[in-house]
Amino acid sequence: MDLFEYQGKQFFSNFDIPVSAGDVVTTVDGAIAVAERIGRWPVVVKAQVQVGGRGKAGGIKLANDLDEVRQYASDIIGMDIKGHTVERVWIEEASDIAEEYYASFTLDRSRKQHLGMLSAQGGVEIEAVAETDPDAIAKIWIDPVEGLDEATARAWVQAAKLNPEATDGAVDILLKLYRAYVEGDADLVEINPLILKPTGEVHALDAKVTLDNNAAFRHEWADYEATQERDEREQAAHEKGLQYVGLDGSVGIIANGAGLAMSTLDVVNQAGGKPANFLDIGGGANADVMAGALEVINNDPAVRSIFINIFGGITRGEEVANGIVEALNRVQINSPIVIRLDGTNADEGRAILQPHLSDALQMQPTMLDAARTAVALAGNG
Ligand code: GDP
Ligand code: MN
Repeated sequence: MDLFEYQGKQFFSNFDIPVSAGDVVTTVDGAIAVAERIGRWPVVVKAQVQVGGRGKAGGIKLANDLDEVRQYASDIIGMDIKGHTVERVWIEEASDIAEEYYASFTLDRSRKQHLGMLSAQGGVEIEAVAETDPDAIAKIWIDPVEGLDEATARAWVQAAKLNPEATDGAVDILLKLYRAYVEGDADLVEINPLILKPTGEVHALDAKVTLDNNAAFRHEWADYEATQERDEREQAAHEKGLQYVGLDGSVGIIANGAGLAMSTLDVVNQAGGKPANFLDIGGGANADVMAGALEVINNDPAVRSIFINIFGGITRGEEVANGIVEALNRVQINSPIVIRLDGTNADEGRAILQPHLSDALQMQPTMLDAARTAVALAGNG
């Protein structure tokens, strides 16, 4: 789950990471009220969208008085930034900047360790720094069991060649940021820019946080959850409790198990087609779940064919087949369906499907055959 900047700053505050005082609003009047409350000039008006480069897109402005706040807030609210409509602006007291740095923690899966990145070249996209001047990024790998201690953090800050004046402040923030990352159950925490003020203070001026949804049960994330941006299809799937990710192709996918669903995407690509979605209906695959999955896919106007890929495990083939037949009685489907059914009691399952087969409901013996048929029915490949 990705947070907006203002939520990321709240999240950081919970771990004592210094951020500027401010508030989030949805209206111009709201923006003016916040600026009056801050009572010091200038203030920064910042578009809240989950995309980088807001500054360049005109989504970040320094306002020197109330008229400018009114002007910028009305310009920015409703603005489109890289396909995201700005619904909220964050107003905060502006900071004086001496230098801009970059800091982040994320997981390095191949090394099974946490990866910390720190650079004296902040404020620009880290991908660009990695491309043009990779040595400017100081990386450390942290054993999750050992954690990050102060001496290691200090050596890391020195390796990144930050201004010596920033050392103590940076070490302090990095230790807190690591705690936020681990105890806050984040997959990514990023501060860009992390600033050094002329006064010598170090401070987070931006916040990018991705939380690990699997840890939601041990946190109070309802507020973050409420503002999640999902497309219509994803929203409908979410309400039905389905594991769904919208994609931009034309072959609708239903599979049982995340691994099989991912393989199904691969095989559709291999057959020259483009998946319209990822959808894992899990182990059960009963009629309710199958009907819900078919409804979500059927409502996607880009879908031209549907590929149901089931491998029976604990759930037996005949249960799955009965579920499919019953679901098809309940939902009026617009696109042809191709089924591949294998695994436990596949023969019994196929026998149940047999009398229902037609041009609109085909069965194929293997995953690749089914993918090819579904791709052909979708009109490509
Ligand atoms: P992003 O471009 O979407 O990552 O937005 P950021 O929050 O990182 O802001 C982009 C840039 O705007 C920063 O790198 C700063 O140079 C500038 N900026 C943001 N807030 C302030 C502020 O309080 N004071 C000053 N002087 N500049 C700011
Ligand atoms: Mn930034």
